[in-house]
Amino acid sequence: MNIKIMLSRLELLKIDLMANGMRVTKRARQALTQGGKVPLSLFEYATTTGIPLKFKGSDIYVNSPFGEDFCRNANWKLHSNDGTFFLLSEKGEQQEVEPIPLPSYFNKRNPKGEKWSWFAMTHTDRVRISPIAGCFFSCQFCDLSRTYRYQKKSIDDLIDSIRVALSDPILPAKHILISGGTPKPSDENYMDSVYERVTQEFNVPVDVMMIPRRDPSYIDWLYSIGVNELSINLELFNQDFANRIMREKSQIGIAKYLQFLERAVKIYGKNNVRSILIVGLEPIEDTLKGIEALAERGVSPVLSPFRPSPKTPLAHLLPPTKEQMIEVYERGAEIVDKYGIKFGPRCIPCHHNTLTFPDGSSFYKYS
Ligand code: SF4
Repeated sequence: MNIKIMLSRLELLKIDLMANGMRVTKRARQALTQGGKVPLSLFEYATTTGIPLKFKGSDIYVNSPFGEDFCRNANWKLHSNDGTFFLLSEKGEQQEVEPIPLPSYFNKRNPKGEKWSWFAMTHTDRVRISPIAGCFFSCQFCDLSRTYRYQKKSIDDLIDSIRVALSDPILPAKHILISGGTPKPSDENYMDSVYERVTQEFNVPVDVMMIPRRDPSYIDWLYSIGVNELSINLELFNQDFANRIMREKSQIGIAKYLQFLERAVKIYGKNNVRSILIVGLEPIEDTLKGIEALAERGVSPVLSPFRPSPKTPLAHLLPPTKEQMIEVYERGAEIVDKYGIKFGPRCIPCHHNTLTFPDGSSFYKYS
C-alpha cells in the first residue's frame, strides 16, 4: 500500500521548533525557573538540551531548543502569565503547551555527596542511566568523551538512582533506558552485571542502547534476563560520512550491525528493535537508504535530527532545515509503511527529541 503522508499543523510546528528553536520571554523564563531557582535545561546531552513541551490537546511532544545560537532568530516565542499557562506564538498563530519539568532530584545528592544526575536523568517519562561516564569511542557529534573522563560507576549507586527517579514527586519515571558511553571490551562483563541487576530489581520496562557485541547470540541472553527492547544505532548509513564522523563505530562495519539487528529482530520480533539514524549529517538519500535497510529487516528506525553540541567538532553546523526534516519524514514514512514498520520509539513522551508522531494505532503508547 502506498500511503500519502499529510503532516498536521501540530506535527509541522514540532518540526519547525526542532529546526529553528524558540525564544523564551522573560515571564516564561521566570515562571519555568521559579524565579531563577531551577535551570531551564541541564544541557546534559545534545538532543535533550531544549525544553520538553507537550502540545495541549494532543499527544505530540517536542524537545524545543532555545539556548543555541541558531535559536536567536527563531520565529516562535514561549510566553507565560503567572506560570500556570504557557503559549507558543508566532505572527498571530498560537499553541498552548505544557512544559515538562525537570525531576526534583536534578540537583540533589546521594548520601555519598554525589549528584543523582551523575547516575541518572529523567526526560519526560523515562529515566536514563549511564553506567559508563565518558565513552570508549569519540563520535564527532557527541560530547560524552569530551566532557567526562572514562570511568565505570558503582552499580549500587546506579540502582539507588533509579529508585529515586521512579519515585520522584515531580516527574516520576515510568521506564528505564540503560545507555551512556560505550564500554571498553574489557568492561563488557561490568555492563552485563548492570543489565542483570537492573532487570532483576525493577518491575518496569528496561531498554538497552548498545553497539553490537561480537557474538550475535548475546541477544538471546539479554532477552532471557528480561531486557524489554533494544536500540542498536546505525546513526549514519553513508560509510564515507560514517568513517569521518564516527570512526570507531564505523570500524565495527555496517554488515556486523545489520547482522546483529537481524538476530535481535529474530528474538524480539518485528518492530521491537530500534535503530537511530541522525538526520542532517549525511545526504537525505543515504538516510532513506538506511531507513530501508532497517525496515526490510523488521527494525524500527528512529529519526533523530542532528543538534549541534558546543563541545564537539561539529558545533559549527546547523540542525537540518524544516524542509529537510519534512522530506526525510515523508519519504521515510512511505518506506517503513511498505514493510509494515513504524518509526520508533513506541513510547509517546519519548518522541520529544525524535521525528516520530503518534498515529492513533496501539503501537504508540504511554509506558
Ligand atoms: S558511541 Fe555513543 S556515547 Fe560514545 S561517542 Fe559515540 S554517540 Fe557518544
